Amino acid sequence: MSEKILEVRGLYKSFGDLQVLQNINFSVQQNEVVCLIGASGSGKSTLLRCLNFLEIMDSGEVILQGKQVNPNKDRLNKIRQNIGMVFQQFNLFPHKTVIENVTEAPIHIKKVKKKQAEEDGEALLRKVGLREKAYEYPSRLSGGQQQRVAIARALAMKPEVMLFDEPTSALDPELVGEVLQTIKTLAKEGMTMVVVTHEMGFAREVADRVVYMHEGKIVEEGSPLEIFEDPKEERTKLFLRSML
Ligand code: ADP
Ligand code: MG
Repeated sequence: MSEKILEVRGLYKSFGDLQVLQNINFSVQQNEVVCLIGASGSGKSTLLRCLNFLEIMDSGEVILQGKQVNPNKDRLNKIRQNIGMVFQQFNLFPHKTVIENVTEAPIHIKKVKKKQAEEDGEALLRKVGLREKAYEYPSRLSGGQQQRVAIARALAMKPEVMLFDEPTSALDPELVGEVLQTIKTLAKEGMTMVVVTHEMGFAREVADRVVYMHEGKIVEEGSPLEIFEDPKEERTKLFLRSML
């Protein structure tokens, strides 16, 4: 049976008076690709951020590889090593080369030897098609290339699961494809992933499961076929129509 890598139960989160997430129960299994869809403001980013404790939830529990995370006791750095995250804005270190961006965390957080980290980093850059850019600075790369470096950087920590928050939303249209292709390759290799995306074609093709959120709640989830061809909820139908 498939094993749940990451799970959240009974998650509530508000910002002041604004209830942003209400009783979210969500999990991702080993090797599963979950696409999270929903209108802007529905709480997708906040959900991802709660999963790796970039936001503190009001209530609820996160279970990582079968163990409940206690944010007061467990070292969050350790937790985050297991949960890679890629943001809409790539957030590379501008004053570091590509390879330095990729090896920074393994060297300083995981205490991997520099030479080993560089070998691993070069292999990851090869995987995302950027081996030849290892010694460039980020400003010399296109947005699509920078995002692929950000993906390599997250992978360098050998996470159990990768969270992508609209990884292509900040890109010019002609650069979206190369980043989606990189994520697709990871999916084929069995990487466990949660991908927040507005790219419905991508979700349909790559997701094992699609989760639709509206106003801080999960409205419906199912296989891409179920969600895109035969949605049950009126809300889901309205949303999908708005995405055409
Ligand atoms: P999505 O990613 O689906 O667009 P978000 O999770 O970013 O949605 O936001 C959900 C809601 O929470 C929105 O109404 C947003 O304005 C609000 N929100 C998000 N972050 C904060 C914050 N740090 N402070 C106050 N409100 C926030
Ligand atoms: Mg968002």
